[in-house]
Amino acid sequence: MPRKRAVRLAGPLYAVSGDRLSHPFDANAYLIAGREPVLIDCGSLDGYDALRRNLLSVGVTPHDIRRVLVTHGHFDHLSGMARLREESAAELWLHAGDREAVESADPERTSAFLYDRAFPKLRVDRELRDGLRVPAGDMELRVVHTPGHTPGSSSFQLDLDDMRVLITGDTVWGGFHERIGSDAKDWRRSLDRLIELDPTALAIGHSRPMLILDATAKLRDARAQFGVYFNPWFKPFYLRT
Ligand SMILES: [Zn+2]
Ligand SMILES: [Zn+2]
Repeated sequence: MPRKRAVRLAGPLYAVSGDRLSHPFDANAYLIAGREPVLIDCGSLDGYDALRRNLLSVGVTPHDIRRVLVTHGHFDHLSGMARLREESAAELWLHAGDREAVESADPERTSAFLYDRAFPKLRVDRELRDGLRVPAGDMELRVVHTPGHTPGSSSFQLDLDDMRVLITGDTVWGGFHERIGSDAKDWRRSLDRLIELDPTALAIGHSRPMLILDATAKLRDARAQFGVYFNPWFKPFYLRT
């Protein structure tokens, strides 16, 4: 049984969803706690009840969530939004590159076909753009457009007092497939951009609930071992390293 509890990673940053925390289908989702609680991704339809319990364990209700910033439009990262919307006015923010797939519930480009589930049609409230600064908790996140896994993949830069965290979704150790619109050239360029940001820690889409330290070196590894990306991405990070 997954544990039903949020895990504090650093400062206001919590892991609230993931295959260990909510449901085996779920990608990691992160909460930035504070005056304006924000989720980065929100897991799958199947994991929503556990995500909700995990949020409540740190005193955040679904109603408190102001916005959900999505790393990309995949079932395991986003479909839980359909349940969240039933009890929250949270806005969904997603890059334009994945918008059409999500709004039309495309079974391939949302990766729903991998889970034998229908993707719920979801309206996107705002588009994420490269360089956009978004209020989150008591701070700001900066959006970095990192296409490659999907055209609309985004990463989020969170500068804490003593560390720079990049929340990358599947841009780090995700899977490559033409059916989801992956592009190797874009992806390499995106990893180069993340390396240039010289982060202290990574919070990725599929891993135990943890920060990955020595982050710039890990990004260089990911760039150098790009062939790994052509494997399915649900093989967990911790089994590969
Ligand atoms: Zn994923
Ligand atoms: Zn993905």
